[in-house]
Amino acid sequence: MSKQLSCEFACNGDRLRLFRIGADRYEKVSYPQRCGIYSEVETRDTIFHFNLNHEIIRAAGKGKSWPHPQEWLKRTVGNDWIYYSTGGYTGVFETTGEFYLPNLPYPTNKFMGGNPFQNPAVEHLMKNWHPLLAELRVRIDSAPAAILDFVDTLLANGPAALSEKAERLARINGGRVSVLPPDTRHVDYNVIPVSVSSGCLHKCRFCRVKNNVPFSTRTSREITDQIEQLRTLYDRDLANQNSIFLGDHDGLQADPDLLVFAIEKAQDVLRLCNSDSASMRGSNIFLFGSVAALLGAPPSLFTALEQLPGNSYINIGLESADQETLDYLGKPQSKNEVMEAFDLMQEINRNYKSIEMTANFVIGDILCQNHYNSLLSLVRDRIPRTTGKGCIYLSPLENKDVSRWRLFDFYRFKRLSRLPLFLYLIQRL
Ligand code: SF4
Repeated sequence: MSKQLSCEFACNGDRLRLFRIGADRYEKVSYPQRCGIYSEVETRDTIFHFNLNHEIIRAAGKGKSWPHPQEWLKRTVGNDWIYYSTGGYTGVFETTGEFYLPNLPYPTNKFMGGNPFQNPAVEHLMKNWHPLLAELRVRIDSAPAAILDFVDTLLANGPAALSEKAERLARINGGRVSVLPPDTRHVDYNVIPVSVSSGCLHKCRFCRVKNNVPFSTRTSREITDQIEQLRTLYDRDLANQNSIFLGDHDGLQADPDLLVFAIEKAQDVLRLCNSDSASMRGSNIFLFGSVAALLGAPPSLFTALEQLPGNSYINIGLESADQETLDYLGKPQSKNEVMEAFDLMQEINRNYKSIEMTANFVIGDILCQNHYNSLLSLVRDRIPRTTGKGCIYLSPLENKDVSRWRLFDFYRFKRLSRLPLFLYLIQRL
């Protein structure tokens, strides 16, 4: 555990608490859980949280104007503000596997939730968190030096500095991470992105996250340089990080030795598994893979992953087990390859304790009934017994709410599936 000197100051309704110790693991709980070490500034109207670099990471209003006492804004390392809502606690956990629904400020395959960014209190806090802290600085002018230093650093880490830092992260990675694997929900999407490759093999017609670059991998030298730069960028807040995302769209297609090299290097340099310096227990590796990459991966890769510290989550874009649908999507893979990949994933899930293979399938009003029938036949008939490992994620094709009928269908599938089944909300970093 990182040794930080906690300290506290309160004056006329303002309270500052430095280096509070939150939970040391991510858990699925129905109350807002704060993980790692963070500092808190509480004023009459607002609560702010800051990471170990004294950069804002969360904010929430107090009182009647704030939509819900258990809802909050989170600022990501990519400098997006995300609003976490309870969704009235109806159906959020069943559909996403999490108790709180991240509402994103950009177009995505949204399936539920309102538009909290139009709420005046939310909008006000997103726009004015920095001036509000500047006002606090004036009010607490007589505070001890350590507290004033802390507030001065928060103010120096204003919107322009945070935006510049997010751009620096994108430059280190060779571009912004446009989509995170759905499994990163297990760590509230808090992953350090390490690019091992760029682009993907297929450039499918339906895909909204693809880029134009042909698939290529980084060299071990480039990966090492990248990880060194990430160490500098994350700096003291590395103690709060325990997970990496091996980007971008088909990390599994990279050379297996290179993948293992990247993981070991990241775990070592970023000290992801060092219990003496970390505030979060355990470590995780997340990556995407294509059907071709999975079918071509040697068993030795999975053996190597199993021997590394932490858990590995590999998310495969199966999309459909119906040929007509695959053709419609412009996904150049056959239904037989999809089924072969699906079976291999189940085998890996059975045989490797620390590896979870998960799959994505698309859903949409426009898709034919055979697509849904073939999906049901995979998740129900091809699985001998109910298991908690090997999540299936359904991803709405359109950037609009899933129709009522499809949501009803989702719940029916969920009931019948022998694998955990959730909706996939596409989120960037
Ligand atoms: S679905 Fe996957 S393989 Fe197809 S274009 Fe998108 S990222 Fe590439």
